[in-house]
Amino acid sequence: MRAALLTILIILSNTLIYSQDNKIRCGTSKVPVNSAAITELISYPREVIEIPVVFHIVYSSEEENISDEVIMSQLEVINNDYNKKSPLTKSLPAKFDKKVATPGITFCLASIRPTADASSGIIRINTRIENIADQVNKVDGERMIKDTELGGSSPWNPERYLNVWIGSRSDGITGDATFPDDPEETETDGIVLDYQVVGLRPNDDGPFNLGKTLTHEIAHYLNVFHPYGSETGCFNDDDLVADTPNQFGPYFGKCDEDASSCGSRDMDTNFMNFRDDECLFFFTRGQVDRMIQTLFTTRYELISSNTCSGSQKPIPPDPLKVAPILSLQNGIEIPLTTLTEQSYTLALYDMAGKKVWKSNSNPEHRYMIDNIGLPSSIYVLVLQLENQLYSRKILMNQN
Ligand SMILES: [Zn+2]
Repeated sequence: MRAALLTILIILSNTLIYSQDNKIRCGTSKVPVNSAAITELISYPREVIEIPVVFHIVYSSEEENISDEVIMSQLEVINNDYNKKSPLTKSLPAKFDKKVATPGITFCLASIRPTADASSGIIRINTRIENIADQVNKVDGERMIKDTELGGSSPWNPERYLNVWIGSRSDGITGDATFPDDPEETETDGIVLDYQVVGLRPNDDGPFNLGKTLTHEIAHYLNVFHPYGSETGCFNDDDLVADTPNQFGPYFGKCDEDASSCGSRDMDTNFMNFRDDECLFFFTRGQVDRMIQTLFTTRYELISSNTCSGSQKPIPPDPLKVAPILSLQNGIEIPLTTLTEQSYTLALYDMAGKKVWKSNSNPEHRYMIDNIGLPSSIYVLVLQLENQLYSRKILMNQN
């Protein structure tokens, strides 16, 4: 009986996600098993946060081969949404006003290829495969749009670029994204969009005509979840963010000033909900904290290159990357031999963002982390200099 009830609930919740246009707002549903709320924010220099984006347009008809103008309008939408330049188009309940926050993240077309050649940041691939955006290789389940050999377009180094693939989809999903550190997606990290929801299309009357799908999916890519979490129901902190009210399930369609569930008014117009584009217009402080934490730990390489500014200056060597880290019986040894700075901090975070070890600088620049009490897992080592911050993932094994 209980199983039957559960099945009905699951069918109901899946049905709710469909909009009136028969498209689904988002296909990003799997929440990584090691997800956790942020317990301590790291300090970081926040003058400029720039993310280079490469768009892979993989088309099988001219209609799918959307223009540079549409791409540029999409870039403008995400830059506005992540910098709150566009006016709030709907009034918010007063108690939500104070929770609105601006990520302060700027996106640019990747102007330098991984090979150091100049680029427009827009790749066009003509494919014979229809609806390639949701086709998978039968042998290994790989997404065909993400692989040149399968008729798609292989990613640029996903640690250095945000790869956004655009193509036709037959599954009705507007977009999906990978979360940081998904072990199944390291080679294909990025976002896939239906070509029909890309860019600003004010003359279309569809519900996905204002480019908000990419705004929503980038937040997933930066470790932000749907307000109701991974399943419908009234659970505390189901999205691991304290300042979004508990919400039973997704909201779709037009905005509603009385949207409420689980005993409180819901943020149905939050970017992470499923409303029509015209109804989505803000992030909260807690959501922004998750994005920034991600960018300064697990996705740090993304913002540490000079790709956006287009300067040809060589990127200074990363002291953590060149450090010959040694795995020992009882932990790891970290000799930061290239460091000349006298004052800095070195800290170790688990994948939930919790600090598990910290040290101030010593004159030898040599550190030892004891693994007693630390589960075998991947951790993020963060080196904070006065004006620079570096991170490196390391595997800690209990011997
Ligand atoms: Zn989503």
